[in-house]
Amino acid sequence: MNHEVTRFAPSPTGFLHLGHAHAALFAAKLAEDTGGRFLLRIEDIDRGRCRTEYEDAIFEDLRWLGLNWVEPVWRQSEHMTDYARALERLESDGLVYPCFCTRKEIQAEIKNAVHAPHGPDGFLYPGTCRGLSKSERENRIGEGTAFALRLDTVRALRRAEAANGGPLGWTDRAGGRQKCDPTMFGDVVLARKDTPTSYHLSVTLDDHAQGVSLVTRGKDLFPATHIQRILQALLDLDVPEYHHHELLCDPTGRRYAKRDQAHSLRALKNAGVTPGNVRAMAGFGNEQP
Ligand code: GLU
Repeated sequence: MNHEVTRFAPSPTGFLHLGHAHAALFAAKLAEDTGGRFLLRIEDIDRGRCRTEYEDAIFEDLRWLGLNWVEPVWRQSEHMTDYARALERLESDGLVYPCFCTRKEIQAEIKNAVHAPHGPDGFLYPGTCRGLSKSERENRIGEGTAFALRLDTVRALRRAEAANGGPLGWTDRAGGRQKCDPTMFGDVVLARKDTPTSYHLSVTLDDHAQGVSLVTRGKDLFPATHIQRILQALLDLDVPEYHHHELLCDPTGRRYAKRDQAHSLRALKNAGVTPGNVRAMAGFGNEQP
């Protein structure tokens, strides 16, 4: 049996809720059942939204739930130079380009388009800056215009498939074998001036660096795996297996969200609910209140 290395990777932008408890217990159980290791990663690249008090609460609430993880905890903000290095590699391979469009300009272009394709995260970037010449790019950067770095997704896929000798795939334990198609997202942003990395880039690099063998997370992140898989191919990273689980819903059928403070683990604890009760509410165990 594979000793699975799993991880729970919350962002400290709010208190953990029952949905997080489900995700954390799911990952921890798979590691435990296989004699593997359960890791905790703090996804704190968005410095504007992350708070130390939320990070402290993550440790406290998970311990209260009875979870233990392998120390030291991985904090994304401590690995920014690794993300920058990977980005440089993609840049020198000609697979990312600077995009100077503002949100408003992108919206206007989409509005005027006869056919504006839609992806899992909404309308796709129309590719306005993809064709800019080298001198145009240099001029605009020289003028100090803010820009994001986008992946040239079609070119990247072509390159990765050629190197692989065919389509790229990955295995999802719930959904089976998948064929990688990141083009459904268009040219995604991999870095911005204020956050010189992105969710996709950091997560992909970290899963490799931490030796994660089985990525477990909610089904809402299933499509994101297409982008992460192509990044693995472009950056020569290991390809873990995936298990995208169902999302836990409240009694009215709505997914738990950070804004519903009433379902936060702290609110439940303060209301006298025991860790065993919470584990049962999150789908693990049968200690009913
Ligand atoms: N940090 C992400 C979140 O809180 C999870 C990332 C992942 O599991 O890939 O939704």
